[in-house]
Amino acid sequence: MAEIFLPHGQSPAVACMTAVATPRVLLLDDEPFMLKLLTHLLRDLGLTRVEGVTQAPQALELCATRTDPPVLVMVDLNMPDMDGVEFIRKLAEQGFTGDLVLVSGEDERLLHSALTLVRAHDLRIVGYLHKPVTPGSLKSLLCDWTPPQPAGAAATLRRVYPVERLALAIEHGELRNVYQPKVELATGRVIGVETLVRWAHPEDGLIFPDQFVALAEAHGLIDRLTRCVVTEAIAQAARWIQAGHDLRVAINISMDNLASLPFADFVTELASAHSVPPAQIVLEVTESRIMGDQRAPLEILTRLRMKRFRLSIDDFGTGHSSLAQLRTIPFDELKIDQSFVHGAGRDDTQRAIVLASLGLARGLGMAVVAEGAENRADWDFLRAHDAGLVQGYFVARPMSPEAVLDWLLTWAARVRDEGLLINPEGAK
Ligand code: C2E
Ligand code: MG
Ligand code: MG
Repeated sequence: MAEIFLPHGQSPAVACMTAVATPRVLLLDDEPFMLKLLTHLLRDLGLTRVEGVTQAPQALELCATRTDPPVLVMVDLNMPDMDGVEFIRKLAEQGFTGDLVLVSGEDERLLHSALTLVRAHDLRIVGYLHKPVTPGSLKSLLCDWTPPQPAGAAATLRRVYPVERLALAIEHGELRNVYQPKVELATGRVIGVETLVRWAHPEDGLIFPDQFVALAEAHGLIDRLTRCVVTEAIAQAARWIQAGHDLRVAINISMDNLASLPFADFVTELASAHSVPPAQIVLEVTESRIMGDQRAPLEILTRLRMKRFRLSIDDFGTGHSSLAQLRTIPFDELKIDQSFVHGAGRDDTQRAIVLASLGLARGLGMAVVAEGAENRADWDFLRAHDAGLVQGYFVARPMSPEAVLDWLLTWAARVRDEGLLINPEGAK
């Protein structure tokens, strides 16, 4: 979906909210001049309910209001008395559910560690702004911002499911595969799709994997879950091949799947039964925790690679031993984690990490996928650096298999109409 810019620089999210209820924004900065400036800039973006305070205790009190609390707090990190870091801890302690923006003149790496701290407190963060704040930097930070749901609505979206219910879901076929395209930056060509699992819960609607994959791993259900996903994904790959579409299909594999030796035979036999060439199947592996006994995973991955299945290292840069894994396992593809990709054009640290990952992949002769490109700026940045393949909301959200064929047509039109292959000017 293309990014739509509205009059007066409003973002779609802000424009849509202003029609319903203008989100309340709180500014905390010890400099009254900054409060004035930010209030003015936010107004220009359509955020008219802005309140500024110079003292952290005052801000905490306002956030503790039960009715109509601020949904966005922009906080200066450097303040006398209670500084921004202490304020954030106290805000978390009182159960704040809104979004945060950090504002500071400190260098990016310090801002990054403050950002990590905010996440560690389980608070929502939109990002950070460098002082002096400019209209452009504020607009680009808030252009993708969607105000959080009221506490009640959010609570109903996230439920903890008993493992027995998940086991039933797997048995009764409530899991669905959706597919997200991967495209080549240089040509716009669609190379393949990544399979992502969803649980179509009869009462609660569509449930995302972060609510059940770890549960399956912890209770020995991941093998059954993965077998369902793989079975459907390979059948779908065969349908696309029969329809004349050359799409590689990637499937996420948990490290726990690689503890059981028959897994390699299962995948191999399935691909052969559907006449899908192994090279059309990509197995994406993430290491979420330290690998215990390495023998089984190594045997399975080596056998699959010898049969010409493609192996991909997912969420690169976030695991426990990504570099060591690169040396040990013969990966074909490296997926740069989305936390580094989105916004890499305007963040020196992210840019350095993305460029280093690209260099590493090139050095090892691996394909690269930059994951999490959310807007045109991300696309232009990646193109300017010849990042190989890209996957992200800017290109397409995950979709049902039926929607993929229609999407292929709209994508070809977008590449042309939006000039996606024209070299970006000034992209660094
Ligand atoms: P992943 O394999 O890294 O998949 C990419 C995730 O990023 C997907 O989330 C996708 O919807 C999301 N994403 C894609 N583009 C963007 C973007 O531009 N911005 C943002 N913010 N997010 C984007 P999803 O589907 O919720 O999956 C989350 C994770 O759950 C996956 O991360 C993967 O680790 C795991 N997962 C998904 N399906 C399976 C599965 O079948 N088996 C296993 N073991 N894990 C799975
Ligand atoms: Mg993946
Ligand atoms: Mg990933």
